[in-house]
Amino acid sequence: MKDYGYITEQQKKRINDLEEKQTYIRDEINQSRQILSADKFQSNVQNIEKVDIGHETTHVLQWNAFADTMAKKCPKCSRPMKLQWARELSYVSPTDFYWGCTGWYFQSNQIKGCKFTQRLTKDDLSLMTDVSAPEFELSSQDFNIILHDPNTSESILERMDDLQADLRSKKKGIDIVCCPIHAEPMVLQKKRNGVGLLDQYYLRCAHWAQNDQGCNYIEKLKSGSQLAALLKNQTGIGIL
Ligand SMILES: [Zn+2]
Ligand SMILES: [Zn+2]
Repeated sequence: MKDYGYITEQQKKRINDLEEKQTYIRDEINQSRQILSADKFQSNVQNIEKVDIGHETTHVLQWNAFADTMAKKCPKCSRPMKLQWARELSYVSPTDFYWGCTGWYFQSNQIKGCKFTQRLTKDDLSLMTDVSAPEFELSSQDFNIILHDPNTSESILERMDDLQADLRSKKKGIDIVCCPIHAEPMVLQKKRNGVGLLDQYYLRCAHWAQNDQGCNYIEKLKSGSQLAALLKNQTGIGIL
C-alpha cells in the first residue's frame, strides 16, 4: 500500500477495500475488451490464418501486439503482459521480443508493481491473424523500405494528422489500446520536435497531466506496423 502519512486503521482498511475494488473493476473491463476483440476475430474468420513469425514477418507480430488482444497473463501477479521490444530498433528480429508485465507501470513510492519479463515461446511465435492486410504480403525488410519512401512517409503523416485532429474534436481515445493502470483508451499525440515518420506519434493515458501530476503511461509509435494497425483500426485502411 502507498504511504499516506498518518491515517487511522479504519481509513487504511477503507483504502485497501477501494484498491481491491479498483483491481476487480479493471479486470472486468479488460475481460470484456478481450471478448470484444475475439468477436471481431470471429466475424473475420475467412481471413484468419496461422503465421509463423520469422525474420521476414516480425512486422506481423508488431501489428498484432498493437492492441491489447494477446491475453497473456503474468504468472507472478496475473496482470496482463504486453509484448515489448526496444522501440529504438529500426529492424526487430524475432529474438528482440519479450513479454513484460504491465505491473511495471504500477508504481508506488518508486517501487514498481512487478518487473517480471519472459522470453517468447515457440507458441507465441505462431499467431492466428487476419492475413488480408496487404502489408503482410511483404517481408519486414521490404515493408521498412516502403515506409522510408518520402512520398509514402508524407502521405502517412498527413493521414495521422487528420486522424489526430478528428479524434481530438470528438474527444475520443484509441479504444483498442488502454492504459494498464486506468484501463481507459489512450489518446493519440504528436511530438513537438519529432524527426521522421517513426518519431512523431505516441499514445498517452487520458489521465496524463502537466508537471507529473497525472498518469505517465505512454506508448511510443515507433514502427510502421503500429501506425498501420492504428490507421487500419480507425479508418479501415492501413498504410498500403
Ligand atoms: Zn506481474
Ligand atoms: Zn493511466
